[in-house]
Amino acid sequence: MIANLLVGMLCVYLLSFTVMFLLISRRLGGEKMGTDAFAVGNLALGSAYVLQLLEGPAGWSAMSVANHSLTLCALAAYSVGGARFFGRRTPLLWPLVAVGTGYALLQLAMHWAWGPVARYALLSATCALCFAAMVVVLVAGMRTFARDLRGEMLVFAALIGGICILNAMKLAKLLAGGLPALDMDGRFQMIFYVYMCSLATIIPPSIVWLVLRRLTDTLRGNAARDPLTRLLNRRGLTEALDAHFRRADACARLLLIDVDHFKRINDRHGHQAGDAVLCAVADVLRGAVRKDDLVCRMGGEEFAAVCPGADDATALQVAERIRHAIASAAMLQVAGGETVRCTVTVGVSGSFDDQVTLARAMQAADAALYRGKRGGRNRVERDASAPESDGAPMAGARILLAAADPLS
Ligand code: GH3
Ligand code: MG
Ligand code: MG
Repeated sequence: MIANLLVGMLCVYLLSFTVMFLLISRRLGGEKMGTDAFAVGNLALGSAYVLQLLEGPAGWSAMSVANHSLTLCALAAYSVGGARFFGRRTPLLWPLVAVGTGYALLQLAMHWAWGPVARYALLSATCALCFAAMVVVLVAGMRTFARDLRGEMLVFAALIGGICILNAMKLAKLLAGGLPALDMDGRFQMIFYVYMCSLATIIPPSIVWLVLRRLTDTLRGNAARDPLTRLLNRRGLTEALDAHFRRADACARLLLIDVDHFKRINDRHGHQAGDAVLCAVADVLRGAVRKDDLVCRMGGEEFAAVCPGADDATALQVAERIRHAIASAAMLQVAGGETVRCTVTVGVSGSFDDQVTLARAMQAADAALYRGKRGGRNRVERDASAPESDGAPMAGARILLAAADPLS
């Protein structure tokens, strides 16, 4: 009676989370993070337990064969769900059909060759092995594909380890005592069902938590990045700088980088080519800055680089490296074999060490940039109001690097 109640509750948990996973997967659209496979897994396991309630005492029946096959299909679906959550493109339908039919045939062969106990022992042994394999994958994942989810992987590994041990014990009991070991109201089966109920209560909401975590991380990442170039946007830069100033109190310098005569590129080659040039400029910027520098697209054809810990001389060197790298790069090959090139003008600020002084640094770098534009473009210009630091290699407020402007 109590066992029936427990199994009944188990069915309700599993089937309600089937609906929950289905709703989540429909809501997620393209990137479902395995929730569709988890829904199928819960449906298969829930249905297996419904059949167990209907079939009565352990024995040979079509329902029992279907029950065991569905149990194995559930394990396969959960594994596919896990793989998909971690970004593997894993098929679901044909593995389930293969596992379901293959295992049904195996059951028939086992029953025919060694009788009913062997068929039940096969299920316990297969489940124990599958769960052991899952534990190994989860533990290995803590060092590889799930480095950011170590705590969660450890909890899952411990919970799944428990059901692995219970299945191994069930196998031993079956081999020692035959089918009576499976009496639903027996002490061991009761512990088994209580444990399964706990798993069904803990694991599905934990998966929902993982999906939510991944989703919020993705949304936060998207909100902080420019969709065209995937560089940080203004918001991302502000957040990254906040984090930097919380970690270290070293000052930083800002470089404002504006593509020269970009409108001409759009007018001559079209907006799409203009977009491609912006992406190419972003790539060159990524390669030209130092490892810890932050690169951002401020908007339009204007970019920024923040150089934490850089003194005046270093900031000017980075700015010059950027200017030179852009001027030397072939940005785009257009129809007719023409190569699109461009140059940038860079305004370099004095030092700043928080968001308030960042706003001032932004204005100063903008003023320097404007001077650079008036001075002929394709040049680096530093904030004239900032005192020059010791050893700055380029004396004076302006660095004239007036290569011929290829666009003028
Ligand atoms: P200057 O050397 O003075 O900076 O001249 P400029 O032509 O680069 O500057 P201006 O501000 O006159 O023009 C900027 C152009 O950038 C105008 C706008 O259409 C284009 N633009 C802004 N955002 C995008 C974008 O996302 N994609 C493309 N293709 N063009 C953009
Ligand atoms: Mg411009
Ligand atoms: Mg501009």
